[in-house]
Amino acid sequence: MIIKKTINSIQKLLEIEKVNLKKKVAFIPTMGALHDGHLSLIKSAKAKKQFIIVSIYVNPSQFGPNEDFIKYPRSLKSDLKKLKKSNVDLVFTPNSKDLSRYKYKNYNFKTLGLERKLCGSTRPYHFMGVAEIVLKFFTLLKPDIAYFGEKDYQQFIFIKKIVDQTNLKTKIMMGKTIREKNGLALSSRNKYLKPEEVIIAKNIFKILKETRILIKKNKKQLSILKEQKRKLIACGFSNVEYFQILTNDLKHAKSPYIKSRIFVAARIGSVRLIDNILI
Ligand code: AMP
Repeated sequence: MIIKKTINSIQKLLEIEKVNLKKKVAFIPTMGALHDGHLSLIKSAKAKKQFIIVSIYVNPSQFGPNEDFIKYPRSLKSDLKKLKKSNVDLVFTPNSKDLSRYKYKNYNFKTLGLERKLCGSTRPYHFMGVAEIVLKFFTLLKPDIAYFGEKDYQQFIFIKKIVDQTNLKTKIMMGKTIREKNGLALSSRNKYLKPEEVIIAKNIFKILKETRILIKKNKKQLSILKEQKRKLIACGFSNVEYFQILTNDLKHAKSPYIKSRIFVAARIGSVRLIDNILI
């Protein structure tokens, strides 16, 4: 496994590798603190015999002023061990100074308002921050395929929609959400949860599944969502930011909710958790 820290060195290496490589180049951007959710994206690429690049970079521009950028878990040493064990070919661990020196062409794209929905309502800068770094990485590394997790479905669809409008050739793929046995979606932020909070947190998936059954049976979206939101609070969540049904394209969803999803963001104290399921 090769590790590169600078743009210059990774570009030089890729110039040589791409000539020799008969494989497609797969890219998996991460913020580190790696868990089985990240590793499952790597496995998908491995199964297709792709050359795998994983980046580890906690991107400041996708955090709001009062968010957890400083305390976000960082565990480079153990991350690198996991990546090596997963047979990743190349790891990119850039720093902000080097990245900011790299000027790339500004892409013209319409966000279609996607960045303001769901998580965007409380994290107004988040998706544009994600777009900035992802487009920079795509321009630099020119991967054939990039993998994103279903857990962050809004991020996946946002990136897919903007990349579609550029001349970038990267194909955007989605890997399914990996969960604990108790249903809690794996997330680097789960590290913030105290044991008693984990017991509360696992109710997110339980209530999502229950909501799916109710919606399929009953279709009275508004009253069901209101009641399920109340249940989350009763379980111990301090706040439910949204509990909403939208289509897979994040548009208004109507009964019978074909190609639609239930999306939730809820807080336990200062820990914010998100999840979603297909109806
Ligand atoms: P992050 O390090 O949180 O920025 O995540 C990097 C990538 O891993 C993103 O595409 C996430 O959607 C994906 N990911 C995070 N958690 C999971 C999970 N539990 N299952 C599948 N993919 C995940």
